[in-house]
Parts: sequence; structure tokens; C-alpha cells
Amino acid sequence: MIESPLLEKMTGYIGGRWTDNAQGKTFDVYNPATGKVIAQAPSMTEDEVKAAVAAGKSALRLTSPYSIETRRKWLEDIRDALKANKEEVGRILCMEHGKPLQEAQGEVDYAAGFFDYCSKHIQALDAHTIPEKPKDCTWTVHYRPIGVAGLITPWNFPIGMIAKKLSAALAAGCPSVIKPASETPLTMIALFSLMDKHTDMPDGMVNLVMGKASVIGKVLCESPDVPMLSFTGSTEVGRKLILDTAEQVKKLALELGGNAPFIVFDDADLDAAADNLIANKFRGGGQTCVCANRIFVHEKVADVFGQKLAERVNRMTVGDGINGDVDLGPLINQAGFDKVKRHLEDALEKGAGLVAGKKPEDLGDNLFFPPTVITDVDRDMCCYREETFGPLVPMALFRTEEEVIEAGNDTEFGLASYVFTGDAERAQRVAAGLRFGHCGWNTGTGPTPEAPFGGMKASGIGREGGLEGLFEFVEAQTVPRGF
Ligand code: NAP
Repeated sequence: MIESPLLEKMTGYIGGRWTDNAQGKTFDVYNPATGKVIAQAPSMTEDEVKAAVAAGKSALRLTSPYSIETRRKWLEDIRDALKANKEEVGRILCMEHGKPLQEAQGEVDYAAGFFDYCSKHIQALDAHTIPEKPKDCTWTVHYRPIGVAGLITPWNFPIGMIAKKLSAALAAGCPSVIKPASETPLTMIALFSLMDKHTDMPDGMVNLVMGKASVIGKVLCESPDVPMLSFTGSTEVGRKLILDTAEQVKKLALELGGNAPFIVFDDADLDAAADNLIANKFRGGGQTCVCANRIFVHEKVADVFGQKLAERVNRMTVGDGINGDVDLGPLINQAGFDKVKRHLEDALEKGAGLVAGKKPEDLGDNLFFPPTVITDVDRDMCCYREETFGPLVPMALFRTEEEVIEAGNDTEFGLASYVFTGDAERAQRVAAGLRFGHCGWNTGTGPTPEAPFGGMKASGIGREGGLEGLFEFVEAQTVPRGF
């Protein structure tokens, strides 16, 4: 079992207190690298989730809102607590997720960056008076907190994803009810432990619920006291939330699935493209929404680019991330492993070639999937159409710019995309043509706290990060004054 000073309590947190685990039921949390149970987290009841909503409602202040200075202090305190406890939060994250320790600790820094950004830009949420005087009135625009927000996060960034939401919610003055993924509740408990000790937020400002998604989701969707849900996860669950909140016309911020094209033109710096692809693709074991999912390589450079990838992939080390010198950890669970294996089998059966990695029949019976490169991929293969979410690099060939823009857009998703070319004008044309919320030019980097990030098409609604993200949890109210 995991031991940590940040995990002394293994319960939910409602109204400023750790809860009692009313029904006494728990669910197991595994270390995917060892397959061992490392903790048991509480499966909370519908009544407890309702109590969390009620606690949030009692912390909401409309007529005498929390001042900008107060909210800034909350954000700074959380940032500082995360930075001071980066090693331990990262260790917990590494053990429940499986990503390499250094990467896990880097995610804590990344998370702290969102609280830092919001604290530095919170002034943008102050009221302002517009310079014109239409209709003989003085018009003031206020940014009101939308109310209690339900924040639902996935397992692939156990601290990064909540940081994006919580920083903006607190900046707006919105209380929240937070549900982490059932694979990774421990990092969230650690965050609550830090907030409990190192901030003086009012009781009910942040509430933690864990357990059955159907129970928690139902309360958050049905409660009239929760006017907004911010969700990061699969498009499938995102669609369900749209349907389940339609009756009440709730505000939804949705960060959903991806199917990122990574395009390499024949005038690209191939070594830089290969390095960036490796860094992008194998982050989090290939389990990020911005991981390249379809690699389009110009036919003139496909062979040489494939060799460069194979050389790099063959040097990578796979193992338990807690041991330091590891590039790639395990996949999150058996279902995740089986999906990557199915995509590999399907591609090889339909004519793809294995450039690096193992054949499906040679894979082990643990969750460690070796980094794998395949070529001659086409649109009939599962790995082209679906988000693989694992360390499989599928390469497809292209000839022209028009053809590759069309192929890149040939997906319902529109989250991240990448183009590698030495031609600036071409890069501008391709970026404009790709219907993706993020398009890296000669970089495989993903989001950052300072810039807005989010999906087009079925990849979501809204933005996190940047000024756009700061405004997600407020509603503009105009007050024209007549005399
Ligand atoms: P998921 O299965 O959709 O789960 C995400 C969260 O939703 C979990 O906390 C889950 O709880 C909860 N959930 C499931 N059903 C629910 C319901 N009916 N009502 C309320 N909550 C519900 O996704 P995942 O497998 O954890 O994450 C992987 C997906 O997230 C990928 O598609 C990835 O691309 C996407 N993602 C997108 C972004 C982005 O920025 N766009 C970032 C990261 C990940 P349980 O764990 O208890 O089931």
C-alpha cells in the first residue's frame, strides 16, 4: 500500500472537512507498473455528492463577492504548495498512473503554472466601463461567477487537468465539486491535502467526491444548483453529458478526444521532426489527447524518416517509472493495453509493415507495451480512424499539400495537429486549413498555461489556459446606468 504524508486521509472532502465514507464501500487503486493494489478510495453515495453541491452553494458569494485580492491569494497559495511538494505529489502520480517519475514531477510544475497564470492575469476579470455611451447610458460590464461548477477529470494527467479547471474556477470565484478518474484519485487527494493545509479558502469552496461515475454524474447533471460542468475525457462521455444537461441548458466546457495528424514535408528538418515526434508521441506512454495519432510523411522522405524513428525508438527504455531512468512506463490498464494491441494486429493484417517494436503475438502479459512503429497505414485501419492512446506510431504516405490537408481533416476530431516544413508560407496555409484547435509548426509541443487550448469539431467546446480559459467560469453581466 502507498504511504505518504499527503495521503493521511483517504476520503472525500466536503464543506472544508474530510468525510466519513458513509456507506463504507471502496474501490481499488492499482499501480499499473506492478499490478498491485496501492490504496482503496471511497465510493461515495448520492447523498454525499448532494452534500458537496450544497456545501459549494453555501460558499458562493454573489452580492458580496470575494475580492480579486482574496482570489489571487488562493491561487498563489495553491501554486506555492504544489511547487513545494512537487516531488511527493509527482511520486504519488507516478505510482497510480505509471508515467516516469521525472515526467510526473514535471506535470506538477505544469499544474502550478495554471494557478500562477491565473493569479497574474486575474485583474482581467475586474469590471470595466465601456468608452461609448450608447442610449445615453454609462455601461459597466461585470464578470459574475457562474455558480457551483462540477469538474470532472481523466486519469491521463491526474494533476494537470484539474489545475486547468480549478485555477479558472477559483479566479472567477466559483466553488466546485471535483471528481477525479477512478484510476487516479490519489493525486487529487494529495492536492486536497495541500489545499486543506496551505490555503484559507472558505469551507465549501472546493469539494472532492469519488466513486461511481454514474452516481456522481447524475447528481451533477440533474442538480439545478450546478449551472456548469467542465469535463475532460472521452468524446463518448462528453456526448452523454450534453444530452443529460440539455433539459437545464447548463454551460458545458468540454475537452474531449483527439486524433492528431503529424505532417512531415520533404523540406522538413527530418532529425528535428523525429526528435519532436518521439517527445510528443511517447509522453504519458502515448496516452495524451495531443499525442500524434497519424503520421503523414511525404513519400520522398518516408524511408529515411522511418529509419530515423526506428533508431530512436530502439534506444528507448521501458519499465517502472519510479526507477528513474525510464522513457516509457506501462499503459494504464488492461483495456488500454488491449486497444493498442488490437490496433497493431488490425494494421498488420491489413498490410502495414512493422518497422520497430514487437509483433502482437510476442507481447508480454503485463501492461508494458513496447514503442512500436508501423508503415503503409491507410484510412481503413483502426489506428487511423480511432484514438489509439498508446505507444504505436502509424506512418502513412502523402504526395501533395492539398491531399495531406484533406487527409489530416478526415476525422471527427479537431484537437491537436503538427506540421513540419521549412516553407513558412506553406506552414501558414496548412495550419489555416487544418480544423484543429492547436497546430504546432516545427514543434510537437502541446498546451501551456499562457495560451488557450481546446478542440474544434467533436474534440470539445471552450478553451483552457490563456485569457480565454480565464473567462470560462464567468458570465458577463451588463449594467447600463441611466442617471
Ligand atoms: P472517460 O472515460 O471519458 O473518463 C473521464 C472522466 O469522466 C472520469 O473521471 C470518469 O470517471 C468520468 N465519467 C465517466 N462516465 C461519466 C458519466 N456518465 N458522468 C460523469 N462522469 C463520467 O475518459 P478517460 O478514459 O479517463 O480519458 C481519456 C480520454 O480523455 C481520451 O479520449 C483523451 O483524448 C481525452 N482527453 C482529452 C483532453 C483534452 O484536453 N481535450 C485531455 C486529456 C484527455 P471514472 O474514471 O470513474 O469512469
